[in-house]
Amino acid sequence: MNDLPGHPVDSHWIRAQRGEKMPVDPFVPYGYFNEQECTVTGSVEEVTTILLTNRECPYNCLMCDLWKHTTDKTVPPGAIPAQIEYALSRLPFASRVKLYNSGSFFDRRAIPLADYEQIASLLSPYKSVLVESHSALIGNETLNFKRLLKPALEVGIGLETIHPEVLPRLNKQMTTADFGHAVEWLRSQGILSRAYILLRPPFLTEEEGIEWACKSIDFAFGAGVSSCVVIPVRPGNGALDKLTEEGYFAKPAIRSLERVMEYGLGLHAGVVLADLWDLEQFADCVHCKGLRRERLNKMNLTQAITPPVDCSC
Ligand code: SF4
Ligand SMILES: [Zn+2]
Repeated sequence: MNDLPGHPVDSHWIRAQRGEKMPVDPFVPYGYFNEQECTVTGSVEEVTTILLTNRECPYNCLMCDLWKHTTDKTVPPGAIPAQIEYALSRLPFASRVKLYNSGSFFDRRAIPLADYEQIASLLSPYKSVLVESHSALIGNETLNFKRLLKPALEVGIGLETIHPEVLPRLNKQMTTADFGHAVEWLRSQGILSRAYILLRPPFLTEEEGIEWACKSIDFAFGAGVSSCVVIPVRPGNGALDKLTEEGYFAKPAIRSLERVMEYGLGLHAGVVLADLWDLEQFADCVHCKGLRRERLNKMNLTQAITPPVDCSC
């Protein structure tokens, strides 16, 4: 565990490290795709993910790069339903949908309340809908949306890490107790929850990164989530690049992600998924990077620990 840098790591500093935002259209999602995923029922199903163009999240987490594809102001009423229609009309039908809005779905300044009804109506053919939210914004709006929704609602919350010194440094403005209360409340309302867990956030060594990702999985399942997604922390948002230069951050190795997956799957406590986006950047060895990706993908889909990759690296 590193000491703190000689400058504050607060919202002001984090924002000052940022580059330019990408141009976006409030009526067009900035990404949409289908992929296979192992669901909480244990079956592998086709899932549509829509990356909604939305207002920038009011939190400024140290590791977050989602601000890159956001607007400065709330998008006009009707824009979010238009984006969902845009994506769904261009993708083959899937059984489940994920809506990622680069922030919290239940933030009134992110998704206009007036759009809830139309969004719910567009999603009525699906089995489930997953949205993301900061724990502090889960509440009345969650129930309002759920009441309108025919599919089951699942809420993803960034737990990030339960490391007692690193979590506050991430500027997430959330405690592990806040996370636990949110998951408990969701359960009481019949809503499933999913935890996002970071593999090697800043200030930790590789081994500590693995250890605390495993501890965070334990905590999340203990709190009552039905699935955990392990996300290797990647630079590129300005702040993490600066911390890399200063020696406070290094990206994790793909083998560490495999180790955390082996641990999480061995618990048999719920679904454990590795985030495979841009995975190649975590692998240096040209001989085994493809095999390791394949292994992680197989572990995601089968929820079983597959034999390790044999490579001299
Ligand atoms: S709450 Fe989520 S979307 Fe908002 S800054 Fe933090 S990580 Fe990014
Ligand atoms: Zn290798």
